[in-house]
Amino acid sequence: MSSDLVIVYHRQPYEEVVVDGKTEYRENKSPNGIVPTLKSFFGSVEKAAWVAWKEAKDTSNPGFDRVVEIEDSFGKYTVSRLPLTAEQVSSFYHITSKEAFWPILHGFKEKYNYDPVDWPTFKEVNWAFAEAAASEAAKGAAVWVHDYNLWLVPGYLRQMRPDLRISFYHHTPFPSADMFNVLPWRGEIIDSLLAADVVGFHIPRYAANFVSCVRSLRDVGNVPRKPVPSDLISEGSALSDRTMPTEIHLDTGHVVHLGVTPVGVDTDYIKGLAENEATDERATRFRSEIGEGKLLLSVGRTDYTKGGADQLLAFERLLERRADLRGQVRLLHVSVPANRAMTVYEPIQKELEEIAGRINGRFGSFTFQPVALISRAVPFEELVAWYQVADVAWITPLADGMNLVCKEYVAARKDGDGVLVLSEFAGAAVELGAAVLTNPFSSRAMDFAIDLAMDMPEPERRARMALLRSAVSKRDTRHWARDQLALLSPKDFAPEAA
Ligand code: UDP
Repeated sequence: MSSDLVIVYHRQPYEEVVVDGKTEYRENKSPNGIVPTLKSFFGSVEKAAWVAWKEAKDTSNPGFDRVVEIEDSFGKYTVSRLPLTAEQVSSFYHITSKEAFWPILHGFKEKYNYDPVDWPTFKEVNWAFAEAAASEAAKGAAVWVHDYNLWLVPGYLRQMRPDLRISFYHHTPFPSADMFNVLPWRGEIIDSLLAADVVGFHIPRYAANFVSCVRSLRDVGNVPRKPVPSDLISEGSALSDRTMPTEIHLDTGHVVHLGVTPVGVDTDYIKGLAENEATDERATRFRSEIGEGKLLLSVGRTDYTKGGADQLLAFERLLERRADLRGQVRLLHVSVPANRAMTVYEPIQKELEEIAGRINGRFGSFTFQPVALISRAVPFEELVAWYQVADVAWITPLADGMNLVCKEYVAARKDGDGVLVLSEFAGAAVELGAAVLTNPFSSRAMDFAIDLAMDMPEPERRARMALLRSAVSKRDTRHWARDQLALLSPKDFAPEAA
């Protein structure tokens, strides 16, 4: 019970490797993603802790140290590892979180799978996370809980430790009441979130949706609103709101502050990578492999929310429509498969392979394949070189909490050129109005956007890219960290007396 800041996030904050039979904890090689951003908070407090899970064969004898002390470039911190059995991981994470919550969060009711959910296991795992956080936190400490798979932690933690300042951040969209209320556990989830001091979201719309869910389930009276900052309103985005809710006052006197801060990317790190020699060499090699033609780049996970199949079909239509582009344009489609335990994504992979194969069969030759489908993760250093050579980044998810790939593409374009085609249903669209925004649910809109991107004159490309680069650097990871820390600090809200 001695940490001033406890981060509760399901993944461990390092890579664990065994060398000569001895376990070593290494700093994550890839500095992109959320883990290094969260660890960057550790510098601001005297003692910090992290709570994550680790799979154990037998939880009564897990065979690993439950608590380890780590010292890396982010400072010293304690990591508390919860031993979960394979069954618990499968039930709490792969099934309840990914098959029941994930589709509802993203608006895919038809993918929602209720039957296999084992709610007691979900509660038991969330309780264990809350217990670990409670035992690490000093009196009055800040506990920052991340993402929907830990939805019940704030409520449990409040019961265990009323003195704590609790913040919960959603890395996904938050749906409106008519979607969220499909979840039979809606009341329990909302009550848990209302036990937090701060509930955080990427964009104003998600905070407004959260309020719609709260109002549909609990009587909370008036919810004050304030204008949305102008850099979070983009005319072309279906997700742009003009005002946003600020706080929810409960009958008990408890106030829940709603925090809206879009997650950004580490622009300095990407800039450094974009400028280093190895990236230059890679980019030069990729450029010579591409030759005269244009390269479209699409990067995402193999997930129905990412709209991969719709995009490949749009590419097929492009080649059908425009004979001038045949043999002149290629699409590098990186689709990173989920953990093999999650079979729910297998049909998407098959569909992508089928469409890509058909396009190559119809428009390819012995020496030229219009689609390169990469079904594995590309290392970030390599991705940055692809970002630098791609004429168009084509990012068209059907729903996406934020989408970092589009921001990374912009941050990597030190040459100031390149076109971003972005779905208006990615959270990032509210900041990136200078992109070619498109509606992935409309073939006509998708066709129009890709034509515009292919034919865009250089001055327009550069003018849009300059605006995009300024938006991305304004709200980078540091901005997110500062904003979130401010919300956690006691001066911004008055936590209940212990
Ligand atoms: N990424 C990567 N290699 C790949 C594909 C993706 O390193 O082959 C990284 C990408 O650079 C980005 C992250 O994975 O930082 C994906 O984040 P995003 O918010 O775009 O999507 P999510 O997967 O979180 O829905």
